[in-house]
Amino acid sequence: MELMEKVSYLKGLVDMAEFDPASKETKVLNAMIAVMDELAKTVQSLSEANDQLCDVIESIDEDLSQVEEDLYGDEDEDEDGEEDDEDEEEDGDLYEVTCPTCGETFDVDEFMLDEGEINCPACGERLEFDLQIDDPPAKEEAAEAPSAE
Ligand SMILES: [Zn+2]
Repeated sequence: MELMEKVSYLKGLVDMAEFDPASKETKVLNAMIAVMDELAKTVQSLSEANDQLCDVIESIDEDLSQVEEDLYGDEDEDEDGEEDDEDEEEDGDLYEVTCPTCGETFDVDEFMLDEGEINCPACGERLEFDLQIDDPPAKEEAAEAPSAE
């Protein structure tokens, strides 16, 4: 509203000055004020529309947060929570591995075991696994092949 008030004030100033309405300068001045008036109105309505949009986005954001909480809330709690939930690991059991190089113990899952090797997270040493999960390994040479290093 402030912008429109300023334009109105300017319009009043020009009216009070009583410039010669026939002069070229007065016509240019009035034309400029008309444009400013239109700009001020446009800015005003854009600003109002923007406020409404922000309100809508805010409420969508709140709804989305609620949906995210409903969808992922429990899962997050499990991941960050205690470690007494072995029966909840549906995607693959974890296996404890001790690095022979540095002695670091860490967990790997089935997918990592399937790859046959992993780099130790502590020292970076490449570790290879003998796969003995459910099925015997298809490739016999995989178990006997010496390390590539
Ligand atoms: Zn290591």
